[in-house]
Amino acid sequence: MPFQLDNYDVLILHSLLKDGRKSFREISRETGITTPTVKARFSRLVNVGFIKSVSPILNLELIEKGNTLRPELDKKHNKINGNSEVSENDNKKNNKLDSTQQPDGKFKLRKGLKIKLDCEFCGGPVSAEPHVFKFANYERFFCCNGCMSGYKQKYAGRIESIKRKFAGIE
Ligand SMILES: [Zn+2]
Repeated sequence: MPFQLDNYDVLILHSLLKDGRKSFREISRETGITTPTVKARFSRLVNVGFIKSVSPILNLELIEKGNTLRPELDKKHNKINGNSEVSENDNKKNNKLDSTQQPDGKFKLRKGLKIKLDCEFCGGPVSAEPHVFKFANYERFFCCNGCMSGYKQKYAGRIESIKRKFAGIE
């Protein structure tokens, strides 16, 4: 049981699924969770890999016929002798985590939802409480102390420079 969503995570995710452009402050106002907490939770959801990316959702119905927005997609649907419907379906298949599909899709976003974690060092599953290493705005998750210190040693230089850059920005 590596990482479980709690109420805060769920509220923040719901808020972002409605509109991914919201600022942390706006999410805070909407959910009643403080801005620093929203920020921290967001980073963690990114760090564990559950938020894969925040990207615009395009209304493909608005594309005029004959326009090429995504060449690789057009190639595909030409093969199937395509209309725009085919390419739209393609697009959905390719983006299974498309946020429009999440809320009413195969699973329900809820408290206690378990997110799989892989150890950043050995790549194995984190089956117990993860060992967390935080630096700058990153969090890395490990299956054991050995992996965590191995990682710290291996990437010591890189970690230091990230820390320094981060301190400069703040
Ligand atoms: Zn490990």
